[in-house]
Amino acid sequence: MTALKALYGGTFDPVHYGHLKPVEILANLIGLSKVIIMPNNVPPHRPQPEATSAQRTHMLELAIADKPLFELDERELRRDTPSYTSETLEEWRQEQGSTQPLAFIIGQDSLLNFPSWHNYQSILKNAHLLVCRRPGYPMAMKEEAHQQWLEQHLTHSADDLHLAPAGKIYLAETPWFDISATLIRERLQQGESCAEMLPQAVLNYIHQQGLYQ
Ligand code: ATP
Repeated sequence: MTALKALYGGTFDPVHYGHLKPVEILANLIGLSKVIIMPNNVPPHRPQPEATSAQRTHMLELAIADKPLFELDERELRRDTPSYTSETLEEWRQEQGSTQPLAFIIGQDSLLNFPSWHNYQSILKNAHLLVCRRPGYPMAMKEEAHQQWLEQHLTHSADDLHLAPAGKIYLAETPWFDISATLIRERLQQGESCAEMLPQAVLNYIHQQGLYQ
């Protein structure tokens, strides 16, 4: 069986335990050999991250330094055009070959928005979708047509993810982590502690750079 590989996209402004812990648990649950973290290039017409691309990358490097499950891929940051997940996965599929099982990891909030993503139907042609739980978001899609789309692709079997190269949606029973980058930025701005929410090395770097003040 070819080992399943997954890509994990986000802004990571900053990276926190709500990103890392559910994915480490997910990897154990389904036998995931590699998770490639890919920070987004935020297009100019969207609200910009507070940290620069270099700072977001460095925080990720610090967060995964002692975690061999994770690897960093900076390809989206190197582009100056908007990075669409559908295009990134198309490119990744070309590189990995047609039979390699590939997956894209998202949180529950992103699943609810997923049908509004550029070319979302094509994403499942190139990868499975692995969804981690996140507190505060409903489990069902807002529109009936999107719920049907979800149910059509849903699997409860981790084996399916290893046997097919793409096309399944797996709702992982990962624990809830009530953490967001927005909450961390707000707490830091108010001088409140975030010690339990992200790795100490990342927090030290944030203070050293004077970020989120
Ligand atoms: P912000 O608060 O700035 O919007 P965020 O904390 O939601 O940021 P992102 O970088 O936007 O983080 O998220 C990247 C991915 O991680 C998304 O798929 C998102 O659903 C997922 N994610 C973020 N936080 C959590 C969490 N606490 N639990 C599960 N998934 C999460």
